[in-house]
Amino acid sequence: MPAVPRVRFAPSPTGFFHVGSARTALFNWLFARHNGGVFILRIEDTDEARNREEWVEGIVSAMSWLGLDADEGPFRQSQRRPRHAAAVDTLVAGGHVYACDCSREEIARRTAGNATPGYDGHCRDRGLVPGPGRVLRFRVDRAGRTVVPDLIRGDVVFAHEAIEDFVVVKSDGQPLFLLANAVDDLDMGITHVIRGEDLLPSTPKGIMLWQALGDAGLPQFAHLPMLVNERRKKLSKRHDPVAVEQYRAEGYLPEAFRNYLALLGWSPAGDREIVPLDEMIATFDLAQVHHAPAFFDVKKLAYVNGEYVRHMSVEGFAEACAPWLRPPSAPWEPDAFSAKVFARLAPLAQERVVRLEEVTALVDFAFVDEPLFDLASWDKAMGTPIAGSILGSASGAFATCAWEAAALKDATAAIGESVGAKLAKAQAPVRVAVTGRTVGLPLFESLEVLGRERVIERLDRAIERLAAGWRPPEGTTA
Ligand code: GLU
Ligand code: ZN
Repeated sequence: MPAVPRVRFAPSPTGFFHVGSARTALFNWLFARHNGGVFILRIEDTDEARNREEWVEGIVSAMSWLGLDADEGPFRQSQRRPRHAAAVDTLVAGGHVYACDCSREEIARRTAGNATPGYDGHCRDRGLVPGPGRVLRFRVDRAGRTVVPDLIRGDVVFAHEAIEDFVVVKSDGQPLFLLANAVDDLDMGITHVIRGEDLLPSTPKGIMLWQALGDAGLPQFAHLPMLVNERRKKLSKRHDPVAVEQYRAEGYLPEAFRNYLALLGWSPAGDREIVPLDEMIATFDLAQVHHAPAFFDVKKLAYVNGEYVRHMSVEGFAEACAPWLRPPSAPWEPDAFSAKVFARLAPLAQERVVRLEEVTALVDFAFVDEPLFDLASWDKAMGTPIAGSILGSASGAFATCAWEAAALKDATAAIGESVGAKLAKAQAPVRVAVTGRTVGLPLFESLEVLGRERVIERLDRAIERLAAGWRPPEGTTA
């Protein structure tokens, strides 16, 4: 291995950051950090339709959210066109490419029965001068083979019989991705190409180009296993949640998300799933990456996130919740929010949320004027014959009892007993009257935080509504 390994993450902008891209970025970054190497970000934006500036910003922002800082870049492939053009000249001068003006149909017709579908060779010796309307094809050594030295899969051998004379420059003169990719890797002194398995089939072509363009030693390759869904199918951006931005918006923690990504194709620490970053950096090894596809398991991701949430300091948790505690995420007026009140609820919420976005619905009762009633919750808790009398008794008892959770609980239990109901049954109408829902934070602590006056006001209002046969409007959500 040369003194300083150089790796690159080379995404093509797509408008969102795919979890597979994030995994590739992370593995490159871990490799660089483990080996004291250089991690380069190169945006492969030569596809005109796909080089929107905000898409590039999206990649940079998602990477910085994940803490994957680049040592060099972002470089833009689109700004390196002169280098790609120079490489085309080198290929022409070296006789590595030839011009071809055949249509796809002609080639398909001529190669219909061939052992190598797509391999034609018709123009190989015609000596056509390169120019508009003519593609440039790479002259593949028909008898040869290319070995991809892969740190995960070992040597992967490709016989050239199966590889057509591939196009490197389009008929409009634009170099293809494969060429730009190889030229940039060469120029940037890349020593290890770590990327998705989907690119393995095109790797021999890249190697042929690399070899035709210079005498630099080949890089090492590492093709990371594909990510699949629960049906063991390749993740689909149409059917699977694959955008990192979405997970971020739902309140996954970047540390947890990064930890989970590391499990996709690698087992950082045997069976342990929660692995601190410094330990990952210290032990990262491409040779231990698996071949088999990795299941992107949202349930496991949620579990990992929950673990990280539980291990935050309360202050850290409260701070991380901030985006979900103001509009538009939060249903209350900004000045109705009180950081002091939230600080009392935060430890209760921290024990219960998997994703930070869940915090909004757990604490909204403390910041809205009126509980946001959920219809099903109302019907369930208020639809019993004892609901009205429980609410009435609670309103009376809460007016005089000590205002702390234990006393509120005792009072509620006693009310339950008097009507033959267990505590859980007795507290349900109280909970719905005060918070709007049947599930939420521990009730008596919540009442304590909300305060006597507001609690009694809500109980009395619920009593009136119940008597009037009121129900919350349809469509209110839990
Ligand atoms: N730009 C290519 C892609 O997003 C990846 C190129 C590479 O990593 O070699 O699929
Ligand atoms: Zn041709």
